[in-house]
Amino acid sequence: MKTIVTGGAGFIGSHLCERLLKLGYEVICVDSYITGARSNMEPFLDNPNFQLIEHDITQPLLPEELDFKGVKEIFNLACPASPIDYQKIPLETLWVSAAGTKNMLDLAVKLGAKFLQASTSEVYGDPLEHPQRESYWGNVNCLGPRSCYDEGKRFAESLVTNYSHEYSLPTKIVRIFNTYGPRMRAHDGRVIPNFITQALAGEPITIYGDGYQTRSFCYVDDMVSGILAMMVKRDFKGPVNLGNPEEYSIKSLAEKIVELTGAKSKIDYKDLPQDDPKVRRPDISLASERLEFEPKVKFEDGLKRTIEWFEADGREQRAESR
Ligand code: UDP
Repeated sequence: MKTIVTGGAGFIGSHLCERLLKLGYEVICVDSYITGARSNMEPFLDNPNFQLIEHDITQPLLPEELDFKGVKEIFNLACPASPIDYQKIPLETLWVSAAGTKNMLDLAVKLGAKFLQASTSEVYGDPLEHPQRESYWGNVNCLGPRSCYDEGKRFAESLVTNYSHEYSLPTKIVRIFNTYGPRMRAHDGRVIPNFITQALAGEPITIYGDGYQTRSFCYVDDMVSGILAMMVKRDFKGPVNLGNPEEYSIKSLAEKIVELTGAKSKIDYKDLPQDDPKVRRPDISLASERLEFEPKVKFEDGLKRTIEWFEADGREQRAESR
């Protein structure tokens, strides 16, 4: 089976490519490297079933010029996903969700391929319903600093849904909650890489606000299992939440990382960014019912694996960024 993964050089995308290759798929990765990295694909760059196309999907990919014959599935993951990244490049972020998603949907129509859209828990904004079910419409500030990502992804969900109706295209939407694991960039600004790199360097851990805001963290292998289960599930378009429903305050996360790394770091409290969601936890009943999705990796085990990765492979990145 031949498949396209956009954003395949990114954090979740590279793990998805790797799993697909292990399952015997031919994988075409499309990435502009705006936030992805070639180094993420090192473990499988030489795999003969892997093909890499450096391309920004806001420009159409022309199937006539490329060997797309036989592509049966498109996973559309291309988009900056870390708040500091997307706030630096808000227009690119909006545009990849709009024009990029449209271009990939057009390609799916031409190729007769199934299309899976990587959406996000950010469609729920700063949620007034807790935990979040798929039926919740969200609480998003359409003008705020996170809106380029939130509204971009909301637009993409609408676009996918309407393509599905207009073209009878088999589409799927997964709403990805906070995910962590090896290959996150040391300085992409998200909380787990920040805290781990700070702890390993013996620097202060930066908690934004009082640290009582909550998040639920899913290990990347579990997330990839959920995405794959969704792609192969017949007659189910979603949207479906994917994540781990265990909920932690950011303060307790800081304490856990300090404990696991044996760091001597003190805590440094900083201002809470505008529109930072106060709580977040997925209700995954739908995923568990329809996809038999159940996260397997315990938080402490996943954190240990991630810390080990930052200690080894992440060292270079940490040095470079100094
Ligand atoms: N956060 C923090 N310190 C950091 C980075 C993030 O306290 O160094 C907080 C951030 O304000 C948010 C939570 O951790 O409340 C998760 O942030 P992240 O950027 O990982 O993802 P989000 O879920 O907000 O998209």
